[in-house]
Amino acid sequence: MKRSFVIFAVCLLCGILVSAPAVQAKSKAKKQPEPAQIKNVIVLIPDGCAPAVLSASRWYQFYQDNSQQKLQIDPYLCGMVKTHSSNAPIGDSAPTSSTYMSGQLSRTKYISMYPEQDPVNDIFPTDPARAFQPLATLLEGSRILQNKATGLVVTCYFPHATPADCAAHYYNRSAYQLLARQIVYNNVDVVIGGGTSYINDELRGYLDSRGVALYENDWAGLKSAQGDRIWGLFSSGDMPYDADRDPQQVPSLAEMTTKAIETLSRSKEGFFLMVEGSKVDYAAHANDIFGVVTEFLAFDKAVGVAMDFARKDGQTLVVVVPDHCTGGLSLGKLNSGYDVLPLSRLIDPLLGFKHSVAWMKQALNSAPADSIVPILQRASGLPITEADVQRIYHASDYSSSPLERRERTDLALDRVVSEILTAKTYFNFAAHGHVGDDVFLAAYHPAGKLPMGLHTGPELHAYIAEQVGLKDRLAPLTASIFARHQDVFAGLDVEITDDRAGKMVVKSDKHTMEIQGECSYVILDGQRKPLESVIVYVDRNKTFYLPQELRKMM
Ligand SMILES: [Zn+2]
Repeated sequence: MKRSFVIFAVCLLCGILVSAPAVQAKSKAKKQPEPAQIKNVIVLIPDGCAPAVLSASRWYQFYQDNSQQKLQIDPYLCGMVKTHSSNAPIGDSAPTSSTYMSGQLSRTKYISMYPEQDPVNDIFPTDPARAFQPLATLLEGSRILQNKATGLVVTCYFPHATPADCAAHYYNRSAYQLLARQIVYNNVDVVIGGGTSYINDELRGYLDSRGVALYENDWAGLKSAQGDRIWGLFSSGDMPYDADRDPQQVPSLAEMTTKAIETLSRSKEGFFLMVEGSKVDYAAHANDIFGVVTEFLAFDKAVGVAMDFARKDGQTLVVVVPDHCTGGLSLGKLNSGYDVLPLSRLIDPLLGFKHSVAWMKQALNSAPADSIVPILQRASGLPITEADVQRIYHASDYSSSPLERRERTDLALDRVVSEILTAKTYFNFAAHGHVGDDVFLAAYHPAGKLPMGLHTGPELHAYIAEQVGLKDRLAPLTASIFARHQDVFAGLDVEITDDRAGKMVVKSDKHTMEIQGECSYVILDGQRKPLESVIVYVDRNKTFYLPQELRKMM
């Protein structure tokens, strides 16, 4: 009797405690809807960056300046993310960043697009009826639903997987020209990165018509640009590694991030910015330990820029998260003696490096065979032996090799060089590809609402969407801007006129509409009508995904 009374009293108290704030919140909500606290979002993605990269970079930084015990990211580390594809536990950049941007797990190579079903291997069930549907992203939601300014800052070429995941849709990440076109027509305000070769006269003309100032290999021009819409592209493809760049000609990731924030933060409605340290992944694929560390430290400076802005601004959410791990880096590879290995022996071998392995490959290929030793010794600071020279002679693509083709191995030159150099250090790589470890998560939220603990990719997306006021709003946006043309134009005369280029003509009693994939306009009775979103044509199911509102124009 006594005991049940206590339980009753506790339940009553709990009930009051639980329900009291809810009632309060309700009455508050009636009076005045709470304004969205977060105005700006900066998502920073170090591509292919394992937790061990932080450890190696932190020691490397500390060893050179013992006042620098911590990385810029360190105070903000708050959790882990389980990252993978819809049908495989080891992810690829395209589906993993897609998941952060759209909330949907997807298949390898897919760029913010619903996966085709893989009944045998799907980790969670997928809906075959939705295969190939483009999925609205955080960037698109910010721009279309909230009128925010948008930006992408990368060191790869701008239609590469991670930036494309923010502002393009397709089932093949390698369709760079198509993805570049979508990014241009998706009206991104600020793009800074590599890839002048992906801009042609038509795209230049479109950027110009929107008042975008395009700077090609012109850091001085970009730096002093005052407009709200600026694109700055360096190199025909990806930008040089941080260790190899000429600081007068090519900006650092931190400088590009500073410029993007300075430009985007003029937007009254706020902004969405994605910054990618793209080449941590490239260096990890190449097993280039010096490249990995210096690319990460360049990324870490950009994290510092974003965090400084966010702390001052007070309305900015910053999320830092790799898309997956690459290379399987470890600090240490000894079977014994690892516990007495001094810091000096771990880090000293890295101190003489001046360039990435990619730079060394290019230098070796453009010099005679007798310059292998001086080139590698100068670029790495490590002793190069006759046995090393012999291994390089055997590389499959070493253009100055004195050996016949048939005498060569099938190992590529950059792989041979990185194996030679890594063997002289106490670092080790387990793979040249991606590995399936969880990734770290760091964040700054002005009100302290941090994503703690382990998140799945869709959960991390949901967290960002909620904080920025896009919760439950991207699915309806997807339905409205990426509807199937067969549904939108049901009952009308529809003809796909060019399957390869993705062109279609729709006729009603009154109007004729010409539609083309990968752009954000239609031609209605000969007149160009701009759209808020890009039209995506998928040849695999012969479907155009386009706005439902087009029906009203017919
Ligand atoms: Zn990769």
